[in-house]
Amino acid sequence: MQVQSMHFKARSGQKLADQRLQQNLKKLSSKFVSGRASAITELDDFEGTRDAAIERRMRAIENLDVWLDTFEKEATRRGATVLYAETAEDASRLVVEIAKKHQVRKAIKSKSMVSEEMALNKALEATGVQVVETDLGEYILQINNNEAPSHIIAPVVHKDKEEISDLFARVHQRPRLTDIPEMTHEAREMLRPQFLSADMGITGGNFIIAETGSVAVVTNEGNEGMCTVMPPKVHVVVTGIEKVLPTLEDFATVMRLLPRSATGQSISNYVSLLTGPKRPGDLDGPEAMYFVLVDAGRTSLVGSEFQDMLRCIRCGACMNHCPVYQKIGGHSYGWVYPGPMGSVLTPSYVGVENALDLPQASTLCGECHVVCPVKIPLPDLLRKLREKQVEKHLRPASERLGLAAWAFLAKRPTLYRLATGMGVRILRAMGGSRKLIAKLPFGGGWTDYRDMPAPTGKTFRELYRQRK
Ligand code: SF4
Repeated sequence: MQVQSMHFKARSGQKLADQRLQQNLKKLSSKFVSGRASAITELDDFEGTRDAAIERRMRAIENLDVWLDTFEKEATRRGATVLYAETAEDASRLVVEIAKKHQVRKAIKSKSMVSEEMALNKALEATGVQVVETDLGEYILQINNNEAPSHIIAPVVHKDKEEISDLFARVHQRPRLTDIPEMTHEAREMLRPQFLSADMGITGGNFIIAETGSVAVVTNEGNEGMCTVMPPKVHVVVTGIEKVLPTLEDFATVMRLLPRSATGQSISNYVSLLTGPKRPGDLDGPEAMYFVLVDAGRTSLVGSEFQDMLRCIRCGACMNHCPVYQKIGGHSYGWVYPGPMGSVLTPSYVGVENALDLPQASTLCGECHVVCPVKIPLPDLLRKLREKQVEKHLRPASERLGLAAWAFLAKRPTLYRLATGMGVRILRAMGGSRKLIAKLPFGGGWTDYRDMPAPTGKTFRELYRQRK
């Protein structure tokens, strides 16, 4: 997927003005935020489970080479082929080669964000392979001119039912339906022949399990089962190398958190553990199974100050709770991963210079850290990325000048007191009788959509002294 993160400001401006999107994004709070809040109360020891999950994820990340090696041995022993890709392009090339080897004409896919990194559909289609998305959200996006997903677990959260009704009627050439069960039934009718005629099934992998050489795929629609054990003779798993978990017990621990944090469910409707291709005597399963394990920037985080990011279990809770994501949606972020996790992952994977505004796309309120099931310190990581931008002189001259002026004053307490004293008095005067500032000098963005309450005319230190 081409990186568009440099257009973050322009895109978010458009999204803020899009009333329909603003309405659709309200689903985040009404559905996911409240769902998670009640689901986590079901656990006797939520904090203990989080700590256990962190420990298990970090055991895998800190010994990534060892666990990947174990995984490869176990998966190979059970008949699968394990391939490694250093870049997203390499990964696409490997899948294309597998398709050619098995003379694949049609591939069906379940949802995979890594395949978005790889621009896999485009690569396969360029060689004449038809690709059909089977996750309902991804299917909707595909028939809507290959639109990009806007959320990692709810790819069409930015759309409403009416929009999808119009799309189905136009593309399916059937009478327009507005009842959701009827609409999903229609989508199933469209997809069923595709499942039955595909030669290759492609899935992501929520996790890969080293001790058994298995892939774990979690969905709510069961389409991953149709992509892997139904007709396709080849199953290809594409996933990131950081998704390895040493044992099934580790998987069980993480699964206590994933659906609860993602959709507020105790357990997802379908949890599949797939191990190796069909054996003699098996009734179903693919004849060949491949794992394409993608690096694409991940190893550069191992041992770095951003290593904690690798334990992400892709639940989406950070974006559901983020006040910035809730207003602008996922497309503004310009790459595969939106929200706070994307604001760390995108600059880490594609270069901080290609995603200049993402580390700033946060109020640093800390809510993402609070709700992250594996306690990734997202605000700290965003702050570190901001530091990197300053070190590399990537911030605009006006901002650098402002920070230099502030640093100069902050190191001189008397001067600082004088300057801040003058500043708050000027701001009070600007507030006038309304006590509201309609246009803040040097900070217009803050007052574009609302007035700023004028200060009382006293600095923080003066107020603090009074309070004492
Ligand atoms: S950073 Fe945490 S909250 Fe966000 S997707 Fe990853 S695991 Fe979930």
